[in-house]
Amino acid sequence: MNSKQSIGTVYLVGAGPGDIGLLTHKGLSLLKSCDCLVYDRLIQDEMLALAPASCEKIYVGKAASNHAMPQEDINLLLCEKAKHFKTVVRLKGGDPYVFGRGGEEGEVLRAHQVPFEVVPGISSSIGGLAYAGIPITHRNHASSFHVFTGHFKDDSKDHDWSVVAKIEGTLVFLMSISSIPYITSQLIQFGKKASTPVAVVSNAASSDQQVFESTLEKALDELPIGQIKSPALLVVGEVIHMRETLNWFESKPLFGKKIAVTRATAQSSKFSAMLRAQGASVIELPMIAIESLPHKLEQDHLAKSTQIWFTSENGVHEFMKSLWALDLDTRALFGHKILAIGPTTSKCLEQYGIRPDFMPTRYTQEGIIELMKTKLNASDSILIPGAAVMRSLLTDWLEDICTYEKLAIYQTIRPIYGKDELVPLLNKIDALDYVTFASGSAVRHFHEFLEQHDISLHSKVKFASIGPITSDTLKALGYHVHLSAEPHTLEALLTQLIEDAQSC
Ligand code: SAH
Repeated sequence: MNSKQSIGTVYLVGAGPGDIGLLTHKGLSLLKSCDCLVYDRLIQDEMLALAPASCEKIYVGKAASNHAMPQEDINLLLCEKAKHFKTVVRLKGGDPYVFGRGGEEGEVLRAHQVPFEVVPGISSSIGGLAYAGIPITHRNHASSFHVFTGHFKDDSKDHDWSVVAKIEGTLVFLMSISSIPYITSQLIQFGKKASTPVAVVSNAASSDQQVFESTLEKALDELPIGQIKSPALLVVGEVIHMRETLNWFESKPLFGKKIAVTRATAQSSKFSAMLRAQGASVIELPMIAIESLPHKLEQDHLAKSTQIWFTSENGVHEFMKSLWALDLDTRALFGHKILAIGPTTSKCLEQYGIRPDFMPTRYTQEGIIELMKTKLNASDSILIPGAAVMRSLLTDWLEDICTYEKLAIYQTIRPIYGKDELVPLLNKIDALDYVTFASGSAVRHFHEFLEQHDISLHSKVKFASIGPITSDTLKALGYHVHLSAEPHTLEALLTQLIEDAQSC
C-alpha cells in the first residue's frame, strides 16, 4: 500500500435480509450519496440502483464460475478506496457483524488509520425468520435464541454439540444448508428431542421466499436438500409452530409475483412501493425519461389565459419550475380555473397548494372534452402546459370553441443506458410475471429496445396497461394486453394485478 492519507470514511453498512425496504434510514442516505460502493452477492440489483450513477461500484462476491475476492484483498481495497473517495460504502447482506466478516474489515481499516463507521442492519437470523412467520422468541416457546455458523469446512473448531443440544432456546444456523445432515444428527445424538421442529428458510424477505418444515428426525427425508436455493438458513425450535398463525408475508396478494415497472426513474418509486407493499418483487425498468424543455412560459401566457389544464404529473412539476424561473409563484395563478386530468395530477397540484376546479370522471382527453363541453365559452383562453408530443384530440376540439395555447414544457425521451446495462435487465423479462406500462411512449421504447438488441420474449410474461391509449400502442406493436386498468390510475392497475394474480 502506498502511504497516501485517506480522505474518506468507510461505512460498513448492513443491507438487511432481502426486502430493500429493510435497509435502515442511515444506510439509505449513505448509499444514495456514496462515491464508491463495495458489495457482495447478497445485495439486490434494486438496492444497487439506489447509489448515484457516478459512484464506482465494485463487486467482490462470488460469480457463478468464479471465486470471491479473498477477504484480505477486500480489506486492503477498502483502505485504498478511502484514499480517493470521501464516502465509501461497504454494503453487506443482513448485519455487517453477523457472520459478515465486518469485524475483520474494521480491524484492518483501524490498523491503516482509515476512519470507519458501522451501520447495523437487520440480520437474516431475526428478520428472515420474521418474514417466514417465525418469531425468534416467544413467551411460551423460547426464551432465548442462538445464532451459529453451519459452515465447518475452513473452521477447525466445531461446536460443542453436547452444549448446543441442551439449549432450550431457538437455534438458527446460517450458511448451513449443506450441513443439515450433520447438524440434525449431532443434535439428536447429543440428546435433543428427535421430534423438535426444524425449518429451512430460503431467500427470506423476497418474493422468492420458500419455507420447508420438518423435524430433526425426519429432516433428511422431508426437506428437499439439494434443491434449496441459497441464501438459506436452518431454524430449530418450537417457535416454528407459530408459523401457522403468524405467516403474514406469504399471505400477501402479490407474494411470489415478479413485476416490472417501466415508468421514468423519478416516478417509478411510488408504484414500485405500492406493488412491494402487496408482496411483489419489483424490477424497475425505466422505458422513458423526462427531459425539461427550455422555459417558454411568459407572463403574457398567464395574463391572457383564463384556465390552465394539466394533463400529467410531469406537466405540473415542469410548469412550477417555469413559474419559479420567472420569479413567480402560485399566486400568479390567482383567478385562473385549474383542471387536472385525473387524481394523480390532482394530488400533484395539491402538493403546490392548488385544488383543481375540474377533474373528469374518465382520466383521458376524451374525459376532459366530456366534462368541459358545457363549461366553456368563446371568451375563455386555455393554457395547456404539457409534453411536446401529445394527442391532438383536445386542441382540435378547442379550435372551434375558444383560444388556447399548448406549451411544450417537457418531452419524454428514450432513456439512455450505459453499455452492458440494459441487456441484462431486458433478459430478466422472461422470468417475470407482469410488465406494467403507464404510457404509450414507454411501450414504444420497450419495443425499440427489444428490437435493437435482438431480444425475443419466449415466456408467458403478461402485459398490464394503465389505460386504453397504452393498450392500443401495445396491440399495435403486436403484444397481447393481459389487463388494462379501469379507471386509468395506478391504484386501479394495482387492484387489477391483485385480482389477476389471485385468479391464477
Ligand atoms: N450478515 C448476514 C449473514 C451473512 S452469512 C446476516 O446478518 O444475515 C450468509 C448466510 O446468511 C447465508 O448462508 C444464509 O444462511 C443467511 N442469509 C442471508 N440472507 C438470507 C436470506 N435472505 N434468506 C435466508 N438466509 C439468508
